[in-house]
Amino acid sequence: MDEAQGQGLSAAGQAGGEDGPAIIIRQVHKVFGDLHVLKGVDLEVMPGTVTAILGPSGSGKSTLLRLINQLETRTAGEIYVDGELTGYKYVQTRRGRVLQTLDEKAIARQRSKIGMVFQRFNLFPHMTALENVMEAPVHVAAVPKAQAREEALAQLDRVGLADRVDYYPSQLSGGQQQRVAIARALAMHPDIMLFDEPTSALDPELVGEVLGVMRQVAGEGMTMVVVTHEMGFAREVAEQVVFMDGGVVVEQGGPEIIDNPATGRFKGFLATVL
Ligand code: ADP
Ligand code: MG
Repeated sequence: MDEAQGQGLSAAGQAGGEDGPAIIIRQVHKVFGDLHVLKGVDLEVMPGTVTAILGPSGSGKSTLLRLINQLETRTAGEIYVDGELTGYKYVQTRRGRVLQTLDEKAIARQRSKIGMVFQRFNLFPHMTALENVMEAPVHVAAVPKAQAREEALAQLDRVGLADRVDYYPSQLSGGQQQRVAIARALAMHPDIMLFDEPTSALDPELVGEVLGVMRQVAGEGMTMVVVTHEMGFAREVAEQVVFMDGGVVVEQGGPEIIDNPATGRFKGFLATVL
């Protein structure tokens, strides 16, 4: 892990602050064995904004999301969420400041700020929609059952599934299952939602209902990072568009870069998805 170079960092390893970025990614690298997957990614996400990450398969998009949510540990670089360095803390020793891995409890607290929705909905098959949404509040956040039930019903209503709360995943369409997955993430009251190709596994006619819910959640002010091939969504909903290829950010800007790619790589990619 690289030592911080002190750019705007306090001794405690804070960056940003109240009005600063919700996420700061600084020179992040990830190596799997011989494979250098992320090669120095820099990215900032402002609170209440939507960032769309585009890029070909294998460019490192999922790995980047998994690093933000600490499902993987980074090889080098820094990631701050809500101004707080993730995964590590600086400790003052006689030989100076050193980085120490955070304990499990501290990492769990950091991870609880982030909700994640995957391509595959990953619902518990033996639980109803309502039970799926209640699971983490009751068993992870120790919310009393009656209260968790009320909140889960409200979240399912929010994603348009008030009439499906007692259905099992197998009785729901892919789009409905993905909306349950979104409700389940929202039930933990995250500050940030990460979506990894949330509509890629859906039949085309079911994509719209999931994008509609995501658009609504964005409209309510959620900070979102969305890996997607849905250019219409990126254009209309994202404030920031990022094109990744080969483990680096190749282009980055407002949604207008989709219609005005500066590089041949982005142009070539867009030709495959538009
Ligand atoms: P994307 O989401 O853009 O398709 P990924 O982040 O999933 O890309 O993967 C980037 C590269 O990293 C791929 O070559 C993939 O095979 C590799 N990779 C991802 N996760 C692992 C892992 N746990 N172990 C080894 N290689 C991995
Ligand atoms: Mg991926």
